[in-house]
Amino acid sequence: MPSDAPGANLPALRGHNAALVLGLLRAAGEEGVSRLELAAHTGLTPQAVSKITARLRADGLAAEAGRRASTGGKPRTVLRLVPGARHAIGLHLDRDELTVALADLAGDAVAVRRAPLAFEADATQVLATTEREVAALRAEAGGPPVLGAGVACPGPLDHSAGVLHRVTGAPHWDGFPLRDALAERLGLPVVLDKDTNAAALGLAQDLRDGGGSFAYLHLGTGLGAGLVLGGGLYRGRRTGAGEFGHQVVQLDGPRCGCGGRGCVEALCLAAVARDDLPGAARVLGVGAANLVELLDIDRVLLGGRTVLENPDGFVNGVAEALAAQARTRGAGAAVPVELAGGGARVVADGAAQLVLAPLFGAGNAGLGGYRGAPP
Ligand SMILES: [Zn+2]
Repeated sequence: MPSDAPGANLPALRGHNAALVLGLLRAAGEEGVSRLELAAHTGLTPQAVSKITARLRADGLAAEAGRRASTGGKPRTVLRLVPGARHAIGLHLDRDELTVALADLAGDAVAVRRAPLAFEADATQVLATTEREVAALRAEAGGPPVLGAGVACPGPLDHSAGVLHRVTGAPHWDGFPLRDALAERLGLPVVLDKDTNAAALGLAQDLRDGGGSFAYLHLGTGLGAGLVLGGGLYRGRRTGAGEFGHQVVQLDGPRCGCGGRGCVEALCLAAVARDDLPGAARVLGVGAANLVELLDIDRVLLGGRTVLENPDGFVNGVAEALAAQARTRGAGAAVPVELAGGGARVVADGAAQLVLAPLFGAGNAGLGGYRGAPP
C-alpha cells in the first residue's frame, strides 16, 4: 500500500483482536452479541473485550442493541455493528466498462455508477475516468468517511506490489504501478487485485461454512478463476494462481491471446464467437473438471458477462461435465455447480471486500493468505 492500511487512521480498526471482535459483530447482524459471548468466542479476557468495544463505540463502529436475559445473572447488554459508520469503494476496471460501488461495512452496496472504459487504451484515460467517476459517486452518495478503494482488473498482475504485468490484449500496461497511481488520484489507500480474486473474496464472505473451498470461474471477455481454499483466498506467491484460462487442453490447438496454443480460454471464446454455447459450456466444463481433479474443491461457481447471458446453459453444461467425471471416478456425488451471487456486480462488490475483509479478520484465513493490508 502506498500509505498505511485502510484502517490506519482509525485506532479502533487496528489490531488482530479488534478484527476478531468486529468479525463477530458483523456475523451477529442486527441481533447483536454480548461482551461475554465476544470473550468466549475470541478467547480474550472480558477486560480486553471491554477495552476494544469501548474504542469501537467511541468511533461509532459499534452500538448498543438492547439487553438480553441471561441464565442466572443480570441481563447482558448486546452490541451490534453499525454498518453505515464507514464506507469502502469497489472498482471493477473491465475491458470496456468501469463499475464503481460504494459499500457499507456489511459489504452491501449503497450506491453504484457505471461508465464506458477503454481499459486496453492508454493509462491516462483510464486514470482520469476512474477519478471522475469516484468523485461523482462520492458527491452523489455523501455519507461517512471512506476507508479506501479496492481495484479489480484483468491480470496478470502483482497484488503485493500493486503493479500490472503483461495484460492479455494490453501489453503496454506491463510494469505500470496502477495501485499507487490510483491512490494518488483518489487520495485514498488502494488495494489492487485480479478481477477473479476480488469476486472470489467477495463470494467467500457469504459462505457460512467458513472453511469451505470453491472455484469461481469468470467467463467474460476472458476466462479466469478465483480460488478459495480452506476458507481463504489463494493467490499464490506471485498472484499467479487462478490463470485457469491458460491451461492447454489441445496440443497445437488454436492460438490464444496469451501467446500459447490450445488454451481452454481460446477454445471457449472461439465457441462463444460462433454462437456454439453448448460447445463453450462443454469446454468450460472440461476445465472445471480438471480443477476439481486437482484441488478437490467443494463447489464451482460461475459468473461473468457471457455466463450471465445464458446462465442455465453454462450451469447445466458444466454440471454435465462434472457428473461425467464423478461417474468415471466412482467417487460419489458430483461437485455442485451454481451461478455465483451478485450478478453483474460480483467483481465490484468483491473489490470493496479487498478493503473491508481484513478489517474483520476475514481476509487472511486459509492457504496463501491475504497480504494486502496488515491486520
Ligand atoms: Zn492462453
